[in-house]
Amino acid sequence: MPLTNVQARDVEALLHPYTPLHRLAETGPLVLDHGKGVCVYDTQGREYIEGMSGLWCAGLGFGDEELIEAAKEQLSRLPYYHLFGGKGMEPAIELAEKLKEIAPMPVSKVFYTSSGSEANDTQVKLAWYYNNARGKPQKKKIISRIKAYHGVTLMTASLTGLPANHRDFDLPLAGVLHTDCPQHYRFAEPGESEAEFVARITASLEALIAREGADTIAAFIAEPVMGAGGVIVPPAGYYERVQEILAANDILFIDDEVINGFGRTGNWWGCQTMGFTPDTLSCAKQLTAAYAPLGAVLIPDAVYDAFVEQSRKIGTFGHGFTYGGHPLGCAIGVKAIDIYQKRDIVGRVRALAPQFAARLARLDDHPLVGNTRAKGLVGGVELVADKATRRAFDPGKGVGAACARACEAHGLILRALGDTIAICPPMIIAAEELDALFDRLERALDDTE
Ligand code: PLP
Repeated sequence: MPLTNVQARDVEALLHPYTPLHRLAETGPLVLDHGKGVCVYDTQGREYIEGMSGLWCAGLGFGDEELIEAAKEQLSRLPYYHLFGGKGMEPAIELAEKLKEIAPMPVSKVFYTSSGSEANDTQVKLAWYYNNARGKPQKKKIISRIKAYHGVTLMTASLTGLPANHRDFDLPLAGVLHTDCPQHYRFAEPGESEAEFVARITASLEALIAREGADTIAAFIAEPVMGAGGVIVPPAGYYERVQEILAANDILFIDDEVINGFGRTGNWWGCQTMGFTPDTLSCAKQLTAAYAPLGAVLIPDAVYDAFVEQSRKIGTFGHGFTYGGHPLGCAIGVKAIDIYQKRDIVGRVRALAPQFAARLARLDDHPLVGNTRAKGLVGGVELVADKATRRAFDPGKGVGAACARACEAHGLILRALGDTIAICPPMIIAAEELDALFDRLERALDDTE
């Protein structure tokens, strides 16, 4: 089909992130105009169920009047200020107080960023700074996992364990180590039980630490349920053992809650669903329900105390972003948390999770589907060339992308992560809307070749 005028202008003017650029002019961009509830509408007026909450972030859907009002009120009162040099403002304080209250571990201070990448990048700088402050300048390496996604800055793209983020960007940077991905379906040895798999990959983590030397490793970063790497739910017992290993080796556990946080997995935090307690935590995305960009790092006492000591020696704490703690994002964040609490969003996710899991499991019988997985209201459908052997499609074939395009033709937006289709609907979705989402996905799968 020839491109519409707005599509042609888009192709002419924009470099699109995470997009097969060589095909864009032919497939045409999907240009959205407005949204309401769980749906968005393109410039032709076509409706789509937004089954991904945008990029796992618009958890309260589109057009929420309370969030819009909070934004208007803050923009007219104080549209911008910052926190540098000890300045302050009410929304930044109030949001930090709320985050400390709902955090899954004791938190001393909240540091704001504009995004999830900046939050995780900050985590690495803080871990380095902390170890310098406590006289351990060799303790700097960071362990991440194969298939992890932690962002796109130089360091967070290095932590990310996906080939497209490294190849031809000259990454990863030195000092980043990748350990096993905790996905049983893809990485278990033939006949290996989940318990045996966990024992093997955690022993491999221990061996990596021993080989490198615990005194060279600052932190381990993990996303509880891995999102962009393919919606991977690690088996029972995995995080328990990881946590023991990290504690025994004086390695900080950085919890990346950028997708998992604020109810997505059926608890406030993914670490609560998966059963571990981190040392520090990054959040973003649903922190503001995506009505404005904002990220946050939650810092424990021991780390903060070391920073105060450094500040005494150096004269300042030398890190901060112009838009970290932007009043618009903070005011919206305060309102978003208020809505999560008063509308009992965690309760809603738990109530919808059985229906979500059951509809997902129904797809297991489809000839293209090798594996489905879900936790709370996030799920993945892995498409394979051969169900029996679990053989993947040739990546160049683009089967996942073809399925996502078929979804669009049926009025549904989902995201292809390679050949895994991710589903992450707004947490306000109604039971009938969830059924409609899966009905459309089933039709799209039938149309996928
Ligand atoms: N961490 C996780 C787990 C993410 O999923 C993402 C983005 O999808 C990021 C970090 C990076 O966040 P941002 O895109 O806001 O920089």
